[in-house]
Amino acid sequence: MDCRSESATTGAGRFRVNANGKLLDVWLLVRCVSCDRTSKLTVHERTAVRSIDPGELHGYHVNDPELVASRLLDPLLARRNRFTLDWTGAWRLDTLSERLDETWPVRVDVAFEDPVPVRPERLIAQGLGFSRTEVLRRIKCDISLRRSTSAGFTFTVTAGD
Ligand SMILES: [Zn+2]
Repeated sequence: MDCRSESATTGAGRFRVNANGKLLDVWLLVRCVSCDRTSKLTVHERTAVRSIDPGELHGYHVNDPELVASRLLDPLLARRNRFTLDWTGAWRLDTLSERLDETWPVRVDVAFEDPVPVRPERLIAQGLGFSRTEVLRRIKCDISLRRSTSAGFTFTVTAGD
């Protein structure tokens, strides 16, 4: 019965809405990845129905995937439910097929489709097929390469040896 797993998934993403008079509870259902047990993350707790945006409320009823994603990324929800998101393998890099063989240095813009935190160092290494040492030697960037970011940034690749 006791499960030590600390990993859960939202699966397809389902909300549960419970109306109690004019008050509303909304939970996001998550499932333990190891024992399959379902638990609930509190999204709204005894909240006045009229204080919730009607569009948002509709989203809870239809399990809107974008609402699931945005609620999961909400730091308030995470703090209230004491969880941290595990982003391991949660990002994918789409690069243009153009080769980096023209004139150096080359400027690269990185844009995020979803605010998934990633260390620029890792992203650049994977995107360019560079080793970590190469990244440190050849990349010039305004932001720290080691600190996770989830906002777009620009870096410059300088010529190799
Ligand atoms: Zn479990």
